[in-house]
Amino acid sequence: MSNKHKILLIEDENNISNFVKTTLEGQEYKVIVAANGLEGMTLFNSYCPKVVILDLGLPDMDGVELIKEIRKKSDTPIIVLSARSSESDKIEALDLGANDYVTKPFGTGELLARLRATIRNSRHAEGGGAPKDKFVLNDLLIDYDARQIFINGLEIKLTQTEFNIVELLSVHAGKVMTYSEILKKIWGYSDVGSIKKLQVNMANIRKKLGERPGENKYIINELSVGYRMRNTEN
Ligand code: CA
Repeated sequence: MSNKHKILLIEDENNISNFVKTTLEGQEYKVIVAANGLEGMTLFNSYCPKVVILDLGLPDMDGVELIKEIRKKSDTPIIVLSARSSESDKIEALDLGANDYVTKPFGTGELLARLRATIRNSRHAEGGGAPKDKFVLNDLLIDYDARQIFINGLEIKLTQTEFNIVELLSVHAGKVMTYSEILKKIWGYSDVGSIKKLQVNMANIRKKLGERPGENKYIINELSVGYRMRNTEN
């Protein structure tokens, strides 16, 4: 009898997969490893993992293809673990449906934190059915029905658009939302010129929430990629 989270790790480099497997198993996760994309897809279907950790540079296919395949049938969270560190690679993977992106070389602490955040985020999404009516992050409280935000009990006045952005990020807390995802959900379209508009709104939101530049108490700025609302525990 075990309620360990099952993780599928798709990674062709033995030293990395051994390292990640050992690290995660030390943290009460159960890990199965696939060394190429085809094996990864087969194991995904038979093993039903809680989370997939996916390398992009696989011997038989590009990991990006695997994201597409998995997303055709499943919302299982995918964390990309890749040496590709350019913004465009991250954005492509996230826009295709990856939940998060960790760049090699990575720290154990970072990977574990992202994994915990991803699992919490998916649990929230699975809660499904009745959407939550409130979001709490330390001293921040969002009342979705009343469309009000409070910090330490004091209401923060946001514009409609600002509220919509904060609401969207909080519903997906723990997940990186790319500029284009946010633009599409808030304004209904996404083009490069609109990113500036989003950034201006976000600067106002941060100011109203009392965040100093560089401070990431509630919302993390994923440079050149998008934004991520913190979860309660990280
Ligand atoms: Ca590789």
